[in-house]
Parts: sequence; structure tokens; C-alpha cells
Amino acid sequence: MIVVGLTGGIGSGKTTVAELFKNFNIPIYIADVEAKLLMNNSQAIKQELISLFGKNAYKNNQLNKPFIADKIFNNKAYLDQMNAIVHPKVRTHFKSWLKGQNSAYVIKEVAIIFEHQQQSQYDLIISVIANQDKRLQRVLNRDQSTPEKVLAIMNNQMSDVAKAKLSDFVIVNNDKNTLKNQIEKIHNSILKHIENTAI
Ligand code: ATP
Repeated sequence: MIVVGLTGGIGSGKTTVAELFKNFNIPIYIADVEAKLLMNNSQAIKQELISLFGKNAYKNNQLNKPFIADKIFNNKAYLDQMNAIVHPKVRTHFKSWLKGQNSAYVIKEVAIIFEHQQQSQYDLIISVIANQDKRLQRVLNRDQSTPEKVLAIMNNQMSDVAKAKLSDFVIVNNDKNTLKNQIEKIHNSILKHIENTAI
């Protein structure tokens, strides 16, 4: 099964793009969403996060997102430790999800692929890019955040130019109207790639 990584910076439109691949009946795995589900439902993760952050990591048995966000903001050691707890469990969950899929390829949306040198886990990689001011505005419209916080996250991520160079395909998401066409072309190229590389 071919695994296509879909990545891009905060607010670039990864999830918007992933949803459009569903029009071609491509199964979509959104790592962020699955990670949050696992953080709320896996007893093993809960225990490890409570050991790391203390009992306030959970409120009413649900992940206390503002508390965690506050802890990891500007504290890379905490972020790295949290990722070391959660990421391996998401990878295991993805592997078992993958076994249940039956299609030419699947899309796995992950915000950070290149930053963690995880390119080798994917057969092909698509990057979604967009102007920084548009990305900032979209995130501010969507989340209760501040420009400073969003810009700090952006500055921790690889630039669009660098990501584009490392990707097999690039989707420019400055205007939603152009997405369907771009995605259809990429979908057809992926199918061609699969055909050409089939033994
Ligand atoms: P994140 O990594 O921050 O979760 P993302 O890359 O998955 O974000 P989306 O969640 O798809 O991005 O998009 C961010 C917000 O911007 C959403 O509210 C989405 O509806 C909106 N959005 C996405 N693309 C466009 C566009 N071309 N024009 C206007 N709004 C858009």
C-alpha cells in the first residue's frame, strides 16, 4: 500500500486539502486528530502524560489542552518529551489502520515530516503552501490565539520554499477555487506513479 504524506505549515490548509482527496475515495488519516483521540482514550498515554506534566494534564478525564499548550509553549524539552510519548503510539495506530484499507494509496496528514526527518516513512510527499499573511489570518479566525503565538509556531517550522524543494508535489492554497484542479492532477500523477512502479 502506497502511503502519501501530506504536510504543510500551520494554517496552510492540509486538512482542507485532505478532505478533497476523499472525492477520489482515498482514505485519509489525520495524525493530529488521531493523536488527540489517543491522548484522551489510551490509559498508557494518560499515565505517561500525567507523569510528565502532573495531574492537571487532564480535566474531567479529558486532555487539558490550554494547560498543556501553556506548558509546551516556548519549552522545547517538554514538547519533545510529549512527542516521544505520543508519536510512537500514533505510528502503531496508523499501521493497524493501514491494514484495514483497500485502495490504490492512502493519505497521511502530518504537520511535521521534514522537521523530524521522517521522509523515509512515505512513498510520496505532498506539501501544501500558502502566503504567510493568509495562513496567519486563517489560524486567528479559527483558533483563540494571538499573532505572536502563531508566528512563533511558524518560525519553528521549515519554510515553504524548503519544504517545496523536498516534496514530490506542491499544492498552492492561496485560493480555495484552485484546489480541486490541483488535487485532481496530483491524484492522477500518483496513480500513474503507482502504475509505473508496479512490479
Ligand atoms: P493546522 O496545521 O493549523 O491544523 P491546516 O494546515 O490543517 O491547519 P486547515 O485546517 O485546512 O489547515 O485550514 C485552516 C483554516 O483556514 C480553516 O479554518 C480552513 O477552513 C481555512 N482555509 C483553508 N484553506 C483556505 C483558503 N484557501 N481560503 C480561505 N480559508 C481557508
